[in-house]
Amino acid sequence: MAKPTGFMEFGRETPTRRPVGARVQDWLEVYEDFPVDHLKKQAARCMDCGIPFCHQGCPLGNIIPDWNDLVYRDKWHDAIDRLHATNNFPEFTGRLCPAPCEAACVLGINSDPVTIKQVELTIVEYAFENGWIRPEPAEKRSGKTVAVIGSGPAGLAAAQQLARAGHDVTVFERDDRIGGLLRYGIPDFKMEKRFVDRRMAQMEAEGVSFKPGVQVGVDIDTRELLAKFDAICLSGGAAHPRNLEVPGREIDGVHFAMEYLPMQNKRNAGDEIPDSAFISAKGKRVIILGGGDTGADCLGTALRQGATEVLQYEILPKPPASRPAENPWPTYPTIYRVSSAHEEGGTREYAVMTKSLSGENGKLAKLHAVHVEFVNEDGRQVMREVPGSEFTEDVQLLLLAMGFLGPEKPGMLEQLGVELTERGNVRADENKMTSVAGVFTAGDMTRGQSLIVWAIAEGRAAARGIDKYLMGETLLPVN
Ligand SMILES: Cc1cc2nc3c(=O)[nH]c(=O)nc-3n(C[C@H](O)[C@H](O)[C@H](O)COP(=O)(O)OP(=O)(O)OC[C@H]3O[C@@H](n4cnc5c(N)ncnc54)[C@H](O)[C@@H]3O)c2cc1C
Ligand code: SF4
Repeated sequence: MAKPTGFMEFGRETPTRRPVGARVQDWLEVYEDFPVDHLKKQAARCMDCGIPFCHQGCPLGNIIPDWNDLVYRDKWHDAIDRLHATNNFPEFTGRLCPAPCEAACVLGINSDPVTIKQVELTIVEYAFENGWIRPEPAEKRSGKTVAVIGSGPAGLAAAQQLARAGHDVTVFERDDRIGGLLRYGIPDFKMEKRFVDRRMAQMEAEGVSFKPGVQVGVDIDTRELLAKFDAICLSGGAAHPRNLEVPGREIDGVHFAMEYLPMQNKRNAGDEIPDSAFISAKGKRVIILGGGDTGADCLGTALRQGATEVLQYEILPKPPASRPAENPWPTYPTIYRVSSAHEEGGTREYAVMTKSLSGENGKLAKLHAVHVEFVNEDGRQVMREVPGSEFTEDVQLLLLAMGFLGPEKPGMLEQLGVELTERGNVRADENKMTSVAGVFTAGDMTRGQSLIVWAIAEGRAAARGIDKYLMGETLLPVN
């Protein structure tokens, strides 16, 4: 245990965000560095619980109390080894994870939880700075080949584990760059893309071959790939967006979040996109439909692009400020949150349902909506329109961030004929194998839209399943 009285001596401290006025002028990450002496005090707050609920909260089973202790004792090298034992990419989760581990931290029962995520991030960045994170190529090659389709966190985690187990791994990605939603989706102000490049360099040195710009199922028949490789991992994400099915949807000026966000990521990466093809919020009144993280990413992007005003509408009621009785510790709390983007501007409204859109001269001009309420009918929550609450807002750009309906079916999945679940995700057995022998799956493609931490956990599990399928046994870790 780091410091037996640490949790009584020190309060929770998290990194500060750069001033709003400065950060909306650029695309750099919003958080300032967190000094190591402050971090050690945060690690000292860990009580090294007999039953560490933080483990249970983390889908990767990260051995959190161990690294809190090691950081406090300045054993940083051991700390990164312990962290990498369960997580291939702590620099992604340390920046982007909503930290279910912190929601489950025992200290959170009657105080503020340990800042686990910041400890994780500091360990990995400290290790990179000191040159401790180097390629770990396999000592022996297996002679087996694996195709990983999709280069998001699930595909990358599977690829790294498989390469380290000695297999020849090729990652196919339909986008022009590697990284999945880490690259094209998550804005740079949440994670700069140099961190994805840094890991790619390590993986290339471990023997992973990246093939961007190849859409499996279109550029290559998936069955051909199955014949060429000893195993396949389907990690293509859950990119099918929920549409807004109202009159006027077809008017110019309505876009899915994932049509909008990647364009800015590409410009930030130096790509030339002519203004005529670029979706910009500059000088526009913007409405975002969807109150989740994707909506917040659209908000931060629109504010940086120079929107005149941004409104964000959510159909569900406003969440409570603190945990309600039916959402107790250690479950993940559904509460009102203020992300960095919300701090920067925009107005959020809840319980709003869009009824129709209308335009002027072929361009989007108005959004027509109504307020809704949720009433209990025979034990079920039923949504009802509030009579007389109809309203109209001016809008020039409408961004749809209302969630995703699972993986895209045409092409790859249809060619393979893999079995799907009732929710339309790819069905997998306990080894992550699909209904087609030798074809495995990981990440959002099998879970539905989820989190980076889950994608990494899934990728590691699929790698283990594949290794066992190819070699008859596996030494890859369970978590
Ligand atoms: C805007 C946005 C912001 C998010 N922010 C966060 C966050 O802050 N924290 C968090 O934990 N989670 C966040 N998420 C969720 C998280 O990004 C995903 O859960 C995670 O990326 C899933 O990883 P994956 O590897 O399964 O799929 P993805 O990251 O979606 O990667 C799948 C890749 O497969 C490729 N692909 C698909 N089909 C083919 C094919 N046929 N051939 C070749 N390539 C193919 C796709 O182009 C894509 O690059 C966010 C999601 C979105 C949309
Ligand atoms: S639950 Fe919290 S206090 Fe307990 S071991 Fe985990 S991080 Fe430390």
